[in-house]
Amino acid sequence: MENPIFTFATPTIISGDRQNVDVIAHELSHSWSGNLVGCASWEHFWLNEGWTTYLERRIGAAIHGAPQFDFSAIIGWKSLEDSVALFGADHEFTKLIINHKGVDPEDAFSSIPYEKGFHFLYYLDRLVGREHFDKFIPHYFKTWARKSLDSFQFKQTFLDFFEGYGNDEIKEKIAQIPWEERFYSPGLPPKPEFNTAYVDSCLALAEKWKQADYHPSSADVESFTANQILVFLQAVQNFTPPLDAGRSHLLGTAYNISSSKNVELKAAYYLIALAAEDKSQLPGIVDLLSSVGRMKYVRPLYRKLNELDRDLAVKTFQENKDFYPSTTKGQLAKDLGLN
Ligand SMILES: [Zn+2]
Repeated sequence: MENPIFTFATPTIISGDRQNVDVIAHELSHSWSGNLVGCASWEHFWLNEGWTTYLERRIGAAIHGAPQFDFSAIIGWKSLEDSVALFGADHEFTKLIINHKGVDPEDAFSSIPYEKGFHFLYYLDRLVGREHFDKFIPHYFKTWARKSLDSFQFKQTFLDFFEGYGNDEIKEKIAQIPWEERFYSPGLPPKPEFNTAYVDSCLALAEKWKQADYHPSSADVESFTANQILVFLQAVQNFTPPLDAGRSHLLGTAYNISSSKNVELKAAYYLIALAAEDKSQLPGIVDLLSSVGRMKYVRPLYRKLNELDRDLAVKTFQENKDFYPSTTKGQLAKDLGLN
């Protein structure tokens, strides 16, 4: 998490495999989007997190090559779909600008301001063209440095900049932006065409796992980055019906995920194990829930654990609740119906 001058980093970003640099890029970006320029209220939270997610992906592309931008955006799209499914596609909290009247900001918190905010900026980026959008970025941060703004001020800043930019083609394009729709439509935004270069191999492997007789080997994932393994695992999470317990167990051992130190991968794998009702993974799951307090991991795990073994979910929560950050603790108590 970002604070002025300081970044507080969760220990889970030290994953032992030099992965997870995207989190570091994210927190550093907050020095600009969030701290130098902040949202005026939580209703416009996307200005903090959408911008930061956008900048994080631009940094990722600068380090790992252009396909990394889309690769990361595809992972983000999945978490956006999950949040929309969880709230319901018509829900207020799935809008870019959320009405917070009488709402606990913690209840409204989800990946939506991050990912829907990212998609709005990415849409503007593609609309005007990268070369031109890159001139708007520093203008925006200079204009609003040491100030806070809302979505309407953002809109005005964007329009003012490109109306005075001296490019008629762009001027025409920005006149077509459906601001109201983008700000207030619930559910998923229009899905862009992603460059799937890095993702195709992950999905091809997931396809193989749909065959009940597929024999995996560690070579399957040898060339994968941790994020590619994550995409593979997320594809398997979507299987209906889910893998059975034996196949799920085989997946964890064949690819050394059950023994990995990377919490991101383990948490994704445990969701598969819980859906598969593979009880042999319960001790590992309880271990993770007792050593990591990061909402991103523990919340979905508790939800699934609660479905499979409510007593264990409640017991694990009771034993660890004081170790969790207060936001996480409150959210989990609600999810488990303990309030
Ligand atoms: Zn952030």
